[in-house]
Amino acid sequence: MSDRKLTCSARGCAHNYDGECNAGYINVRGSSAVTTSETTCSSFFDDSIGLFTSAITCGNKIDPDDIICEALNCIYNKGKSCLADNVHINSNFSSCETFKCK
Ligand code: SF4
Repeated sequence: MSDRKLTCSARGCAHNYDGECNAGYINVRGSSAVTTSETTCSSFFDDSIGLFTSAITCGNKIDPDDIICEALNCIYNKGKSCLADNVHINSNFSSCETFKCK
C-alpha cells in the first residue's frame, strides 16, 4: 500500500467504514465524463438502512492504487489507473470529487 489516500463520503455504502473504503478495489465509471457528476463509483453497494455495515470486507483499506477508472478524460487517468495522490468519493451519487477534465 502506498501513502496515497482514498476517502469516501458515501456513508450509505456497505464498504464504507468511517470514511474509508474496504471494498478491496473499486471501479469508477464515466468513460465520456467531462464533469465530476458524470463519474460514479460502480462498486457502491447501497446499505442505507445499515444491514450490512461492518459485514462486507473484501480486503484492506483501499487507496488510489486499487482504482480501475474508466474516466479517461481525467488528467489523473493513465491507462485506467489513477495517479492522483488523494482521491475523494462524494456522498452524492458516489461521484469522484477529484476528477479534473483534461
Ligand atoms: S481522480 Fe480521475 S482517474 Fe482518479 S478515480 Fe477520480 S476520475 Fe478516476
